Amino acid sequence: MSLSIAPWKYGKQWVYSITYDEALTDLYRFAVPMHEQFGFPGHVEVVVGQLGEVRRIGTSSYNGYRHMSGEELQDILHRGWGVGNHSWTHTIITHETLDLELRQAKDKLEQAIEASVILFCSPGDNTNMADHVLEACRKFGYLGAMSLTDALNRPEDELFWINRTALHDHYYAPFFSAFDPFRNILYAEKTRGWIIDYCHCPLETPIHPNKDCSADQLQQRFETILSEGGDSVWCAVPEEVLSYHLMRRHSRVETLKHSATQHHYRLNLDSLPHGVPYRSLTFEVQVPAAWCRDPKIWINNQALAATLVRPRTLRFTTDVEDGIEIVVGEDSYGQSE
Ligand SMILES: [Zn+2]
Repeated sequence: MSLSIAPWKYGKQWVYSITYDEALTDLYRFAVPMHEQFGFPGHVEVVVGQLGEVRRIGTSSYNGYRHMSGEELQDILHRGWGVGNHSWTHTIITHETLDLELRQAKDKLEQAIEASVILFCSPGDNTNMADHVLEACRKFGYLGAMSLTDALNRPEDELFWINRTALHDHYYAPFFSAFDPFRNILYAEKTRGWIIDYCHCPLETPIHPNKDCSADQLQQRFETILSEGGDSVWCAVPEEVLSYHLMRRHSRVETLKHSATQHHYRLNLDSLPHGVPYRSLTFEVQVPAAWCRDPKIWINNQALAATLVRPRTLRFTTDVEDGIEIVVGEDSYGQSE
């Protein structure tokens, strides 16, 4: 008869997000409409020093394409997407450039999009996941950092090394490969994993086959995520997943009292970091069979409908704050108050 917090929101088994590095305007050609069609959000990683400008970074394959402007970034935010900092210059971050690449870039991006930025995304390769960079990320108020390591993320993992699955036409030599729309899905299902795909700007053909997929391949990937995932995949923007992750890890359920007709719990949020944008949690609770009839729970005396997941197990999702009281009881509980 205990109250527990589900590994992922809504009791979903695994999670899917996708990121588009460089935040190019050509995402409006295929990726943005495809997200509208499928009904889940994307996420862009912005080179803040070239906001709204045509890209000119070293020998980048994406030079000549235009980075989104503040207005365009606001437009995709309104479509449910998220925005991360991909540094100011997209070069190697040294001790001397930490302030520009991480603090000033965050400030400028936040002003441009009129929203907070809580994710850093390493530009180039994992060189920019060095200790001095991650330490500065924590200091400047980020809540997570995304790498280029192709692996799943799990509910218990560290958020300052978030892994991403390369959704590319094929990989660099000598690890040649073919595009696989099923990549990491089975593993995510079996181990409660969070897949974050990453690519750049899918068009008719990949701009660079080792850095991107085509629009057709992106569509295949989305169809596969939804057909394999069904109702057990949570498709969400990384900020929401990361918030859930933090809320769960900083929560402590305290049992106050159990009577024959009611169970009382308190939820404590211990040292939750500042700036977590989404503050809800999904709970599961074991109850006597009789309490499963028209199940309800009470949060600070407000009734909330619960879902019967299986015999004797109820599930509910609610906004939480430190110290809330959660009561589970039989269906006459509300009337007896
Ligand atoms: Zn990049």
